[in-house]
Parts: sequence; structure tokens; C-alpha cells
Amino acid sequence: MASREGDLVLSNLPPSRTQQKLALSVALVIVLAAFLISATGEQQVRLAAIDALVPLYGMAMFASDSITAVLLFTQFSIVRSRALLVISSGYVWTALVVIPWLLSFPGVFAPRGLLGGSSSEITVWLYTLWHAGFPVFVIVYALLKDAEPAMRLRRFSAGSAILSCIIVTAASISAATYLLIALQPYLPSFMIDAVMFSGLWYYTAAIIALLSALAIILLWVRRKSLLDLWLMVVMLVFLTEVLISSFPVSARFTLGWYAGRTCSLLSGSLILFVLLYEITIVYARLIGAVRAQSRERGARLITGDAVAATIAHEIKQPLAAIITRAETGLRWLDRTTPEPDKAKEQFKEIVADGRRAGAVMEGIRANFKKDAQIRTWLDINMLIEETLTLVHSDLQQQRILVRIESRGELLQIMGDRIQLQQVLLNLITNAIEAMIAVGEGPRILGVRSELNEDGGVAVSVSDTGKGIEPQDIDQIFNPLFTTKPEGMGMGLSICRSIVESHDGNLLAFPNSPQGAVFQIVLRPSMTTSPASA
Ligand code: ADP
Repeated sequence: MASREGDLVLSNLPPSRTQQKLALSVALVIVLAAFLISATGEQQVRLAAIDALVPLYGMAMFASDSITAVLLFTQFSIVRSRALLVISSGYVWTALVVIPWLLSFPGVFAPRGLLGGSSSEITVWLYTLWHAGFPVFVIVYALLKDAEPAMRLRRFSAGSAILSCIIVTAASISAATYLLIALQPYLPSFMIDAVMFSGLWYYTAAIIALLSALAIILLWVRRKSLLDLWLMVVMLVFLTEVLISSFPVSARFTLGWYAGRTCSLLSGSLILFVLLYEITIVYARLIGAVRAQSRERGARLITGDAVAATIAHEIKQPLAAIITRAETGLRWLDRTTPEPDKAKEQFKEIVADGRRAGAVMEGIRANFKKDAQIRTWLDINMLIEETLTLVHSDLQQQRILVRIESRGELLQIMGDRIQLQQVLLNLITNAIEAMIAVGEGPRILGVRSELNEDGGVAVSVSDTGKGIEPQDIDQIFNPLFTTKPEGMGMGLSICRSIVESHDGNLLAFPNSPQGAVFQIVLRPSMTTSPASA
């Protein structure tokens, strides 16, 4: 079944067992690491303030969150779900809020930050907006994600929906930053000094932790896709980050604070890694599909070639006969004393050849349209005789001795006369050509029909020609395989498909002492005559 476009996006793909195990392992490792740091009681150990770390961390967060947002927006443009738009906006939020956060961070761009006022306070407020904001986006995502397809945004173009979200998010962050700067003197204080947090922070951290926990619960209850699974891990890392950097003591540049930043980096890049991985997988599948398609196209072209070659091959023989007879007829008429009777004979033959060409065309069509075959009971020895008559002049011209071997019994088969005659004619023509190719030596064409032990019929055409090279034996029945300069390589492939459509086999083996034998073996089911039944 063809997969729908939506089945290939992260928000719809169900997680595999391995992905579930991987997500669980990542979550466990992070929680365990956080637990170990807290358990050692080292969480509040003050480390050196590495000035370069904050801007580096900020830039990394901005880069990974904005790339994640772009990739999620791309997924939104495919499936157009509101939920995806919300979660993408969540990543735009986290990417953009980093900018004022960095600008305000004391010591990054200026000793007291660039945003004026008590920048340490603004930094914490922005951090709160950042960390309380993202779980809210995840909660809304979780609530919207199972919305009916009718709720999906088909009315708007994806581009304008994405642009509106980016503008609204950026405007909200700018407005919030402006308000924070303007209202800062009236806002409660987060910091006791440049590094220590006040009691207010603990309540804020608890709220962020609760929002993250709520997001995890909602995602767990409504979990379905790969995106849900990894967002749960992201939220868990978020929760860990807030807890580890706030409790029991919250201060900047402690071990807990650094561990919190590491968690933050991890949570920011997790979805990005998963998205990149999944996109690569989808890309690989796409390459596979394109390759398969071009192979299929190639196969179709070969089939087209084969059909064209089949028609040309089958029509060539009667056409050549028509031309020869017409030329003979004209010669009879061009004589000083024209002989219209002899010319008339040739013209009659031309009519017969023309009819045969028409019947051959019908046969080719019937071969492609299996049910159009006309099956009747046929006397195989009569069919052999009729076919030999068609090549009589060739046989005479090339001084080929014909040896017909049959036990004189009535061998009847159920089949399509034109098609089976076509097979015999092809095999005999090949035999003649193989003997001409040798040049010297006896030229004996053997045609043998016999009743097999199992009640089936075998018809063999043998020659004393050049024989089949051992390396070619596996290929001679392949369409377009030929060793002749003028050959088309279709005869044997057509013969085999005709014989197989009569529930039989066409075999080839070496003749003794030289040449080749082609044998048609028909099963008893096709060879029980109504007379003998
Ligand atoms: P074509 O006659 O156009 O080459 P065929 O499918 O009839 O196409 O035969 C494929 C190839 O099988 C020939 O090119 C030839 O090499 C080999 N072949 C067929 N019949 C004989 C034969 N009686 N003796 C030797 N080689 C044969």
C-alpha cells in the first residue's frame, strides 16, 4: 500500500521498540546523573565563573532551537496540524528568548548586562519566561495533537501560518522584555546578591517543575508518535534541570547550575538529533524508492523493446517470403512471353503469406492476452509437415536433408495452431541458420515426435549445425540474447513463453556428434486426445 505523506513525518510515526528503549535509556542516564550530583551533596559547590561559557551556551541553544523550529515547521507544512505549529512555535520561543537573556546576563556583553536596570533580575525573569513558557507550549501541543483532521489548518497557506507564528512569538518576547525592563523596580526580587537566588525563585522553580511534570503526564497519556516520546524525554530533562539547579540551594556558577546548563543543552538538542536522524532515514528510503522506480522504468523499456522486437521478428519471415514471391511473380510477367498462370500461383502464395502474417500478429496479441488464445485439438505430425512445407524452398536451396521420425501413431495435442506452428518454424529456422553457419559437413535436420512414458508428447528439432556454446546455454532463452550479427534474440524467448503457456517445457541440449537439439515437452493433460480418452 502506498504510504501517505503524513505517515513519514515525526509527529505521526509510531516509535519503534529500539527507539522506545533508547529514549528510556537517555532519560534514565540523565536522571541518574542528576541524582548522583544531588546525593553527593556537591550540588551547591561553587565553581569558577567561566565567562565564555554563558555566551557559548546561549549561542548553542539559539542555534539548536532555531534549527529544530525550522525542521518542525517543515513537518507542519506537510501535515498542517495545529499541534505541530504550536510545538514549532515553542522552539521559536526558546530560541528567541535566549537573545534578551544573553544580552541581560551580567558580564557577557557588559558587567551589568546590556538591558539596563538590575540586569541580574531581568536575566532570571527571562529565564523564567523561557523555562515556564516551553512546557506551556508542550502542554498545548499535547492537548491539540489528537484534534480532528477537520481542525487542521487547510485554509491558510503553510508559509503565512508559520510567518504569523514567528512574528507573534517574537513580538511577545520583545513586549515581555520591554515590560520587564520598564516594570523592573516594581517586581519582586529574585536575587539576594549577584549569584544567590531569593526565596521567590524556589516558588518559580517549583511552578516550572510542575508545568514540566504536567506536560510529561499529558504526553504520557496521549503518547502515540516518535515526537511525543522524545518530547517526554525533553520535558524530563527540563524538570531535572530546574530541580538540580534550584534545590537545595540555588546560586549561579555552582555545580548544580552548570549541571542545569548541561541538561538544558541536552534537552535543546534532543529533538534536533531525532529529527535529523529520522529525516536521514526518510531520505535513504526516498533514494531507495527512486532507484526502484528507475529500475522498474528500465524493465518497462526492455519489455517495450522486447514487444517491438517480437513483432519485427515474427513478421520478418512472412514478409521476406512475400517479397521473394512477388519478385518471382513479376519475373514471370516480365518475360517476352509472359506466363500469367505461374505468376498467379505466386500471387496466391502471397495472399496465403499475408494471411499467415495477420494470424501471426493475432498470435502475438493472444500471447499477451492469454484468454484470447484459440485452443483446438491438433495432430502434431500434420503440424510438423505443414511447417516443413513453409521452409521447403530454404531447405532445398541450402541442400539440407530432412529426417522425419515418428512412430506413425496419432499424436494429438490441445493448443493454438498458429502459436505452435510459430514455435516449430522458429526452431527449424534456427537449425537451418546454425547449419549454414558451419559451412562444410553434412546438413541434417531431424524432426521427431514421440509419446512419452507419462503419456505426454515430445517434439524434437535437431541439427548438425555449430551447436550452442556452453557459456550461452543459460542465456539463449533470454529476450534480446543473440549471437548472430543480424539476430534479434527474440525467437527462443517467444517459443519458450508459448510452450509454457501450453503447460509445457522447451529444452535445449547438444546433438551428437555435432549441433543442437531443441525439445518441446507437453504434459499428458494437454495431449490426451478425445479419441483416445
Ligand atoms: P536469434 O535467432 O535472433 O539470435 P533466438 O532467440 O532464436 O534469436 O536464438 C538465440 C540464440 O540461441 C542464437 O543467437 C544462437 O546463438 C542460439 N541458438 C538458437 N538455436 C540454435 C541452434 N539450433 N544451434 C545453435 N545455436 C542456436
